[in-house]
Amino acid sequence: MKRAIIGFHRDPRDDWVADLDCAHGQHVRHKPPFQNRSWVVTEDGRNGMLGTELDCVLCDRMEWPADARAYRTREFDDATLPAGLVRDHATAHGVWARIHVRQGVLDYHVGEPINRTLRLAAGSVGIVVPQVRHRIEPMGRVRLRIEFARRTRVSSSESAKE
Ligand SMILES: [Zn+2]
Repeated sequence: MKRAIIGFHRDPRDDWVADLDCAHGQHVRHKPPFQNRSWVVTEDGRNGMLGTELDCVLCDRMEWPADARAYRTREFDDATLPAGLVRDHATAHGVWARIHVRQGVLDYHVGEPINRTLRLAAGSVGIVVPQVRHRIEPMGRVRLRIEFARRTRVSSSESAKE
């Protein structure tokens, strides 16, 4: 799915990585003649690309970003589960979540553009991708913990100047 570039940093091999608003990174190498991105080698060029979108396959694959850090946790059971979680909803911009099923079974329905239903039993974890609509459907009695996370590292052009 499309994600906006919010900054850039270099990887340990000195290759440029675009920081996407989903908290994933994506290499944007300039290695002519096969990868032509001359804009990436200048600060002006990089700044000019801020806000443009790249296709993030890591979001499509529901991969937890390495930079995501938990900042809030909530525990629910079938009696305390907020109605909003069983209706179609989505997390805010850049907000990831992990649904840890502690007891029971639930169906985790994920909407566009992922379109999957995952049956989560006790001990399993469902990953919630930022801004992707989803809902959970408990199969009887459940107990779950939801962990919200977002990017902590602010790299962008700051680290490039170091
Ligand atoms: Zn992503």
